[in-house]
Amino acid sequence: MRQSQLRGAGSIAFTTIVFLLYAGIGLAQPSETPRQQPRNLILFIGDGMGPSQLTLLRLIDTTQVLDNFPVGGFSLPLTRGALITESAASGTALSTGVATHRGMVGMTPDGAAVENLLERARALGKSTGIVSTSSVTHATPASFVAHVASRGEQYLIAEQIAGSGTDIVMGGGQKYFLDEQRGGGRSDVDLCATMEAAGYEIALVDAEDCELQLPSNESDRRLLLLAAEDGLPPAHSRSLTLARMTALALARLARNPHGFVLMVEGSQIDWACHDNDFETLQAELLDFSTALNEGVAFAQDDGQTTIVVTADHETGGLALLGEEEDASDIEAVWTSTGHTAAMVPVLAMGPGSASFGGIHRNTDIGRLLHELLSGGIPSEQQR
Ligand SMILES: [Zn+2]
Repeated sequence: MRQSQLRGAGSIAFTTIVFLLYAGIGLAQPSETPRQQPRNLILFIGDGMGPSQLTLLRLIDTTQVLDNFPVGGFSLPLTRGALITESAASGTALSTGVATHRGMVGMTPDGAAVENLLERARALGKSTGIVSTSSVTHATPASFVAHVASRGEQYLIAEQIAGSGTDIVMGGGQKYFLDEQRGGGRSDVDLCATMEAAGYEIALVDAEDCELQLPSNESDRRLLLLAAEDGLPPAHSRSLTLARMTALALARLARNPHGFVLMVEGSQIDWACHDNDFETLQAELLDFSTALNEGVAFAQDDGQTTIVVTADHETGGLALLGEEEDASDIEAVWTSTGHTAAMVPVLAMGPGSASFGGIHRNTDIGRLLHELLSGGIPSEQQR
């Protein structure tokens, strides 16, 4: 009697343990390698930020934020049918893991829509966000929220953003959302009204002077914040920093117990390099580094957040020269006003980050990001 009771209790306990294992690890086989999986993922993209741009950031950034990343590597910015890529194809590679033609957003070369990183995240119950200093409809952020054949279709991209279910959308681009009556460029529908009706808080602010107009961190509402008609003004003349937007996004996204995925883009690093404008480049890099500091502080506090920092391509063919030991007289030598084929840096910290070390194609980075969310990355994997 007593023995059979004990056996019964043991069997229930065993069944319970097996059940908990299966429920907790998502049907993982007991013999499988332990997987490293973060709850939250923040992807920082410095548009146009090649090795020299990152070197410059390291030289001028007094916070030395880059030194927090234990993992480093390179990404080959490949594209279909060309040596040199641009933000749509490379953003698509990072967001979907698929190689496509220049100018295509979230699509295969044949024009089929492919699941992007934020769609994957939402399928897993996570909250999602995009933050940029360009219009939110610009090629890089668009690669995380839209599927269009040409990056120029920004009115269509805005429509897709409005219906995407993305929780936090911050950057420029009022003209693509507002209708003509409200000073926008749309003749069909006012997407701000559509999104407000769907429960979004709408904040139309002026990036040059917005401190008093900014939404509260203390809310769990979905948010559309548009701070300029198109792209934001350059770093030295906007009071709305990338760091401020990043902090606001993190505060709201962190309320989801299932976690979140946030893409933050320093969009205008690229624009300064197209202009071969060294002073503006430094201001944009410092703006990007303050946003990185927000992400790193969040991840260090949270312990379940992975951060990956990379670029979509290099812009300007920048080289740095100088005679002094410090950054006081660096001279920029530009070899192009366009993009180059140079590999771009990858930095990572947090669960599963070791996999991002070494040299990868940009599509591999995209696949690793999906893998990190979906099942985690085997802890042995040190590619
Ligand atoms: Zn560019």
